[in-house]
Parts: sequence; C-alpha cells; structure tokens
Amino acid sequence: MTTSVPPHSGETMALIPFDDRDGMIWWDGALVPWREAKLHVLTHGLHYASAVFEGERAYAGHIFRLREHTDRLINSGRILGFEIPWSADEIDQACIDTLAANGLTEGYLRPLAWRGSEMLAVSAQNTKIHLAIACWEWPAYFTGDRMAGIKLAWADWRRPDPRTAPTASKATGNYMTGTLAKHKAEAEGCADAMMLDYRGQLAEATGANAFFVIDGKLHTPTPDCFLDGITRRAVMGLAHRRQIPVVERAMQPDELSQVTEVFLAGTAAEVTPVRQIGEQVFTPGQITQVLVSDYTELVRLPPADVAARLAA
Ligand code: PMP
Repeated sequence: MTTSVPPHSGETMALIPFDDRDGMIWWDGALVPWREAKLHVLTHGLHYASAVFEGERAYAGHIFRLREHTDRLINSGRILGFEIPWSADEIDQACIDTLAANGLTEGYLRPLAWRGSEMLAVSAQNTKIHLAIACWEWPAYFTGDRMAGIKLAWADWRRPDPRTAPTASKATGNYMTGTLAKHKAEAEGCADAMMLDYRGQLAEATGANAFFVIDGKLHTPTPDCFLDGITRRAVMGLAHRRQIPVVERAMQPDELSQVTEVFLAGTAAEVTPVRQIGEQVFTPGQITQVLVSDYTELVRLPPADVAARLAA
C-alpha cells in the first residue's frame, strides 16, 4: 500500500510502509530480517520517549562524518541518563555492516537507542538499553529544483529553554513539536517550518539548522537550545575555506528584512536554499550556490579527505 502526499516533502513521498520492506536491520548485535525487527508495545522508549537516534547519509560507499554521528548518539543517550552498551568503534562498524547487508552505497541510516520493557513507569533505572540500525534509500529530502529554494512557514511552537528539555540530545521527545510545526507548514503549502526559540530568537527548521546571508557574511543562530548540527559545522568549515565570514550569534526575526539569502543545513536536507519564510522573500544567490556545490563535493570524498578539508 502506498500513501499519497503533499508536495515538496521527500520524506512523505509515496512510500512503502517502513515495517513492510525487504532488507536487514541490525538489532542488538545481529542482523535480522527487516520485517522481524519488531518491538513489544510495552517498551519504555515508546511510552516515555526514553530514546535517542541519529540520521546519517552514505555517499559513494562512505557514511559521511560517521564518528561524529556515533559520538553524538552516545552523548545523546548519556544526556538521557543511559549508556549505550556498545563502543563507538562497534557502533561505527555496525553502521557499515548494515549498509553493506542492504547492498547500499548511497542512502540514509537511522541508528536508534531506547530503554526496554523491564520497567514501565517514570522511573526506568533497571531498563536494558537497546540499539537498532536501519538504512534505506533516501534521495534529496526536498524535491524539485534545489536552487529554486523551498518555502517555510513560521512555526507556532518554539525551541525550549535547555532547562525545560534536553535540547543537546537528539532525543525522540524533542521531535514532538517538530511534527506539529511541520504538519501546519504542510497544510499551508510549505515544505517546512522556521522555529523561534523560547526567547523569540531565530532558531532552526524542524530537522535542519539555518543560515542567513547579510552583507556578504553568513550568520547563524548560536545553537544553545537546539542541535549544533554536523552539517552546520561542515558548512561553517566550507565557508571558512572560501573566506566567507561566519557569524554565530543570537538573531532576531526582524533581521530577516536585511537578509538576502537563506538556506538550511542538515543530514537529510543537505544544503537546501530557502526562497520564502512567511511573507519574506529571498533569492538564493552566489553564497548559497557555492556552499551547495562545495557540500555536494565534500560528501562524496573519502572520510579522511573530508576531515582534512574541514580541518584546514
Ligand atoms: N536540528 C534538528 C532538529 C535536526 O533534527 C537535525 C538533523 N539531525 C539538525 C538540526 C541538523 O543536524 P545534522 O546536520 O547533524 O544532521
């Protein structure tokens, strides 16, 4: 069965349900047939959002910034008070094995760690920690002509104060408001939503960081209540190589009147130009174009070359 979908959203494109596909999923140390990777309904992670995940992309047979993703996964779990019972080396290898077991050289990987079924109350001290890794083909997240840019709606939901939610963790619970914001944006004919933070400052989209061009410089909100994305850091490195100044600071929504170009940066979104936020219109220009093409080139390099390029 396929599901029909709104425009622009690669992720909701006519899809085969995720529980009914061919392939293998890595689950607690073994590769199991895709359809057998089932969870009991009385699982702590499902009831209390005690789960963390990653989103990774493989290009030309390599997982881009694999160790950075693995380290963030482990750290996300620690922020939620649990230790994933595999080392970073083991998790990296499990990701590589999962990709190979599915015969993919290009695709998206989804590691997920969660608390099990030993306890089902707010306290979860004695739950076992599980880890699964799936992967699938996932072409560009936002479909259509990339340089035309996507349209964003303003989200009603805000990124919370880091004292209100574990915002540095890629924790499943942090995505609840993202889904709500994204649904509203899609209902308004937009591809995604721009979110403010609890102070009313510019924050990010529902699954990607944002960059703004003002007077030839790249400005991006300080990631103090949302993820400091791995793509974001790569884009900052690429901008540095191009001698494009990058300013990381608190940004106000009324500054958009001075902004000429906007783009999003995230593993799934890659570098995606934005042509509109609410009523404000932008024209994807030269800086965006250069960073789209530099990123496209970067991701296809062998991992050591990626690291060297970003370190320079
Ligand atoms: N913010 C949110 C809410 C995200 O889900 C993501 C995707 N992980 C990002 C930012 C960008 O992070 P990355 O570049 O590491 O994928």
